[in-house]
Amino acid sequence: MAGEKLLQFVTRTQAYPAKREAQARAEDFREIAERYGVPAAEEQASRCSQCGVPYCSVHCPLHNHIPDWLRLTAEGRLREAYELSNATSTMPEICGRICPQDRLCEGNCVIEFSGHGAVTIGSVEKFITDTAWEEGWVEPVAVGPARGQSVGIIGAGPAGLSAAEYLRGYGYDVHVYDRHDRMGGLLTYGIPGFKLEKPVVMRRVDRLKQGGIVFHEGFEVGRDATLDELRERHDALLIATGVYKPRAIKAPGVGSAGVVEALTYLTASNRKSFGDAVPEFEDGSLDAKGKHVVVIGGGDTAMDCVRTAVRQGAASVKCLYRRDRANMPGSQREVANAEEEGVEFVWLSAPQAFEAAERVTAVRAEKMRLGAPDATGRRAPEPDPGSDFRLEADLVIKALGFDAEDLPRLFDAPELGVTRWGTLRTDNKTMMTSLDGVFAAGDIVRGASLVVWAIRDGRDVAAKMHQYLKVKGKVAA
Ligand code: FAD
Ligand code: SF4
Ligand code: SF4
Repeated sequence: MAGEKLLQFVTRTQAYPAKREAQARAEDFREIAERYGVPAAEEQASRCSQCGVPYCSVHCPLHNHIPDWLRLTAEGRLREAYELSNATSTMPEICGRICPQDRLCEGNCVIEFSGHGAVTIGSVEKFITDTAWEEGWVEPVAVGPARGQSVGIIGAGPAGLSAAEYLRGYGYDVHVYDRHDRMGGLLTYGIPGFKLEKPVVMRRVDRLKQGGIVFHEGFEVGRDATLDELRERHDALLIATGVYKPRAIKAPGVGSAGVVEALTYLTASNRKSFGDAVPEFEDGSLDAKGKHVVVIGGGDTAMDCVRTAVRQGAASVKCLYRRDRANMPGSQREVANAEEEGVEFVWLSAPQAFEAAERVTAVRAEKMRLGAPDATGRRAPEPDPGSDFRLEADLVIKALGFDAEDLPRLFDAPELGVTRWGTLRTDNKTMMTSLDGVFAAGDIVRGASLVVWAIRDGRDVAAKMHQYLKVKGKVAA
């Protein structure tokens, strides 16, 4: 009976796929979690109580049909589970790997609230679509009847790629421009392989190429064309360029050799995983091997840096963060993974200066304490006088987050409207910027956010662009 395959959360305990042992995983860049086998996936999916109002779906930015594909998985109907999961997401196996589920779907599962441990939604989602790839169920991009109109997309991150897939489905000619040599945005060059192996991203990109989407690699808008030139070329444009201006630290010695930006460091490491020649890695500047590494910051980027340094064979890895564990923005799961791998967290500490000879030798820091809550409701850190200390360091990685670049200047488009944070200003209803026919989506509108939100924005903006282009097509006819 189908019913017997569900509601098993009391008798079947929550079990995430096993993590590889910390010592072993710290030696390579492979993902740390094993995959479910079919019996384990069915068993875990069967724990779902099939809520009438599924809070998991409500809190999933894509509003995935979670209980439905869990039921189909529990019943052994994996291909149907895949088709349903794929209906609302362009990259379910990627979200299953890197969404912060504890803050989204799983964090809102009723079984979690009843004390039995959430259904392991992300791991099941990853299992379903990985299986679909292996079984050959993943179909080519469904291309709609040709409309004779073309769309240009600037930025091949999850927002740009998702919009490209949907727009191709509506029948447009789609051109994607990216300044990198490989597509995927932060999926490719930001997020390390131990969270998201690169072939998982590349097979998605290849599928889009096979679907007739044209990729212009190494094409930087602002250098290789102005925004106006691209507007001339296409019937509509999408800006999905993400946010890349690193937040600065103001402290003496911050410009010393050996004090590097997080994304420079992570990109070099990811390029090595692709087998590229990276001179700054080869000459040791961006390689943590044998070094005492201090990473500054408490978000997911900082977590990725510390764990990358461990894998490169650092002599020691410390993470300096000005608030405490409870008040850090990074995922608690990632902190636990980092600690298992040997990272030391130095909470309530902020850098004051960087000592350097030819290159950095130490970080001078001071202890902080948490004061009254600030405008965001988080308790603001303030210096604890007389508590200076010093950490030996031959590589310091700054991971304080990112802001938007100055796009109106870079794109030679002063009339492109921005918010006070530099992100692009869009109309809530149309997702269009201040320029007619120029839309925007993903981090460049939201500020630094999540992959799943970029995918959602890509889906939404494709629909808005389609509405706009249908009207434009009729006027021209
Ligand atoms: P991006 O992914 O940033 O893609 C933008 C693309 O635009 C890039 O390829 C860039 O090369 C291109 N571009 C920029 N300017 C130009 C130009 N002038 N001309 C041509 N091309 C241009 N989110 C999660 O959900 N889970 C995680 O575990 C996670 N980990 C992260 C780890 C790191 C280190 C970082 C930095 C972010 C992480 N995020 C994570 C956040 C997530 O990666 C982003 O929210 C998401 O990638 C945003 O998607 P996007 O498409 O808007 O932009
Ligand atoms: Fe959960 Fe993310 Fe998947 Fe939604 S997309 S179900 S939030 S893992
Ligand atoms: Fe199933 Fe949990 Fe979603 Fe309810 S909230 S439908 S139990 S996964």
